Amino acid sequence: MKGKIALLAGGWILVVLFSWTWEFYHNKNLEEDAMLKSGRAFFQQIVLTREWNARHGGVYVFADETTPPNPHLKNVRRDIPLPDGQLLTLVNPAYMTRQLSELAEKYDGLQIHITSLKPIRPENAPKAWERTVLESFYHGTKEYGAFFDGGYRYMAPLYTEKSCLKCHESQGYKVGDIRGGVSVTIPHVIAPQLPLGGGHLLIALSGLGIILLVGWRLRRAYQTVKEQSMIDPLTGIANRRHFMKRLKEEYQRSLREQHPVALIMADIDSFKAYNDTYGHIEGDQCLLSVAHTMQESLKRPGDCIARYGGEEFIIMLPNTPLANAAHFAEELRRHIEALKIRHESSAGGDIVTASFGVAETEAGDADYEAVIRRADAALYAAKKAGRNRVNAVV
Ligand code: GH3
Ligand code: MG
Ligand code: MG
Repeated sequence: MKGKIALLAGGWILVVLFSWTWEFYHNKNLEEDAMLKSGRAFFQQIVLTREWNARHGGVYVFADETTPPNPHLKNVRRDIPLPDGQLLTLVNPAYMTRQLSELAEKYDGLQIHITSLKPIRPENAPKAWERTVLESFYHGTKEYGAFFDGGYRYMAPLYTEKSCLKCHESQGYKVGDIRGGVSVTIPHVIAPQLPLGGGHLLIALSGLGIILLVGWRLRRAYQTVKEQSMIDPLTGIANRRHFMKRLKEEYQRSLREQHPVALIMADIDSFKAYNDTYGHIEGDQCLLSVAHTMQESLKRPGDCIARYGGEEFIIMLPNTPLANAAHFAEELRRHIEALKIRHESSAGGDIVTASFGVAETEAGDADYEAVIRRADAALYAAKKAGRNRVNAVV
């Protein structure tokens, strides 16, 4: 029972652990998927804007302190002075991406970085992680996305298109070549696992508490039923069924160890007359007193007394020779006499007495019940000889 409760509790903990692990990884996958999609969307928007810019061969904007002419742009028509003194300067895709990146960072911390293993502008040189990813693009990787401490990093390659060659042909690029990549760094705090873990811990503990409580109650109920099935309700001593089980075990041990098991059958004398004189309730009380007196007289832990039926009792004394058992039966007889329970209509005197038949197991016994039959026969002889006596001879 105890083992089964422990097994159930262990099983429950495993189920909760499994659920927690599954939830944890499921949530992580969902979060990762959402971040990957955000990274891709940002990247595609940049690529589209760049393509629009490249198709126009760059876009002219008014030059000012935030948009000075691009020193890395080798184009004779890079700057166009206007009659009013203002200057139009050509913004190519790289310059535009840089400006978009600065704007994005200002608003929500998003970082966009255009980078290449062969950058024209030194600031576009890759960071350590970007270099590793860029190199992997040359080995077939299509995109990269991963969490890092503080956010999520996405990166995908930029392929050379016809419109790019205007500026980049001199670097030896052909259409379709990987020219670099754009990295998108999205600030992100990974969802805390505390509520999920805490929730599961609560579920685990509640379930465990219920299992242990119900298990404990079941164990107690089982124990009570077990005890009740072994005990005679009137006298509180063992019942016949339990006694027979014990006797069988003891008999088998006696065969192995070659020790005799002694048996005493006790029967209250003239008990029918006692009931008739004092009534059944008094009779029950008398049975209780006699049973307790005999039980308290038992000396060894292996000794066992039971109510055999009606006003008959049976006592087993393992590893006891017949003479010692007879001596002990005599002690019991005297203890019952010493109770001095009045019995006016007794055949032998005016107090309650009992007769005893004693026997022991023998080598030639067919089974463990043979000794009971002998003890019963000895008891019958004790009754016949005048009651209130011990008889150890069949
Ligand atoms: P003997 O001296 O030969 O043993 O005579 P006896 O009257 O004791 O034996 P008998 O077998 O004739 O009667 C046994 C009586 O025990 C009959 C029954 O009323 C009584 N008895 C059996 N069980 C109980 C019980 O649980 N309570 C009470 N009060 N009486 C019981
Ligand atoms: Mg009887
Ligand atoms: Mg009797």
